[in-house]
Amino acid sequence: MSDSPIRAGIILIGNELTRGIIADANGPFIAGKLHETGISPDRICMVPDVPEKLENEMRRCIEETDLIVVAGGLGPTADDITRYSVSAVAGKRLEEREEIWDSLRRFYGEREIPGPNRRQTLVPEGFTVIPNKNGTAPGFYGDIGEATVIVLPGPPGELVPMFGDRVLPLIQKRFDLKPEMSFKGTSFLVPESKLEQAFQDCCSRGVTWNTRIEEDKITFRLYGSTAERRRESFIALQNCFSPHVIREGTVDPVLSFFNTLDAKGYKVAGAESCTGGLISKMITEVAGSSRIFWGSFVTYDNHAKTVLGVDSALLEKHGAVSREAVTAMVEAVGRQSGVECGYAVSGIAGPEGGMIAKPVGTVWIACAVPGKKVYSRCFGFHGTRSSIRIKAAVATMILVVLLLTGDETLDSGGFKEYI
Ligand code: ATP
Repeated sequence: MSDSPIRAGIILIGNELTRGIIADANGPFIAGKLHETGISPDRICMVPDVPEKLENEMRRCIEETDLIVVAGGLGPTADDITRYSVSAVAGKRLEEREEIWDSLRRFYGEREIPGPNRRQTLVPEGFTVIPNKNGTAPGFYGDIGEATVIVLPGPPGELVPMFGDRVLPLIQKRFDLKPEMSFKGTSFLVPESKLEQAFQDCCSRGVTWNTRIEEDKITFRLYGSTAERRRESFIALQNCFSPHVIREGTVDPVLSFFNTLDAKGYKVAGAESCTGGLISKMITEVAGSSRIFWGSFVTYDNHAKTVLGVDSALLEKHGAVSREAVTAMVEAVGRQSGVECGYAVSGIAGPEGGMIAKPVGTVWIACAVPGKKVYSRCFGFHGTRSSIRIKAAVATMILVVLLLTGDETLDSGGFKEYI
């Protein structure tokens, strides 16, 4: 939900996009960045390298929005039409800019500047150049009618830094957006529907929200009213669940896991069944993970679980996806590794293998930390095999963090389902 009064559109240009040859990376990036400033784009569209199609789309956007970001088609070749179309729609002639020629000279150094690159010095009259440190095509911006039009090169390696360095500050200034006009938060292990209800119950009058559902978390922003009210609403949300699952800012669960263990000087070891080593992969992607990670056993088959040290009679009696199995797994991990903390995961990632009592997405997780009893919990995850495995991995790390940070609300219920 957004109450942003600023209407925005994004136009992505290129035959490669409209023919499905490459996947668009710029739309989500630009939309995400605009969203962070409090602007939710009304439209994102792709057009081929055809001048009249681009011009029609631009005219429609200019009528309907206040801000248009155009990406692509600024290169030196004949199919790079953007500057000509912007010039036509703006009714401004293209003029050569010496500053661009100078930067091309710097870019090429000793090498000769190819003739067609001269085109890249052309910018519509009255538009301001946005320098590009990583390529030959600079961007530019200016007003057409009531709308601000920002034009950027297509390669993400060029667009992304230009957007952060120049475009965002420009948008904030033009539309008088304060960076602190929203409050950023991250929620873990809370189903979307429960979070939505909590927003409705907890947000002060005039505070609205916007959520982004990701595989491993939901990030959200609170807008409107005053900074104080937004913070109050956030604290009310935390009280509704727990400060450990509703966190301030954008929180990376793997880094949170790493930092919590590192701060305590503990090492962790694990046993993974349905996640098949995914947790190990995620942990070891963090540089320095050897400080906190002993290693993990991938005990996929029941026989592997017995080799780890789980009693086969226990598996026979309760099944591999059970509180008893993950508890025995994490205890065996503790015996084998001798390190302070442990986790074990066993579940049904699907798409086959579900039962009425244990449908696909049922995942048992057990964690052990010093000074506490082994903690185990069952989750019911939704989604594909891949997303169930990711959710199980993240939930495991979050549970270890919760136990280590002494959360007393873990057993208050409400976390059975997941996003
Ligand atoms: P260049 O000077 O590199 O030609 P340009 O502004 O003309 O810059 P395009 O020709 O539109 O950019 O695209 C160049 C390349 O950038 C494409 O081949 C593609 O690899 C990448 N690219 C462009 N647009 C996108 C997009 N929306 N998502 C992902 N990649 C893109």
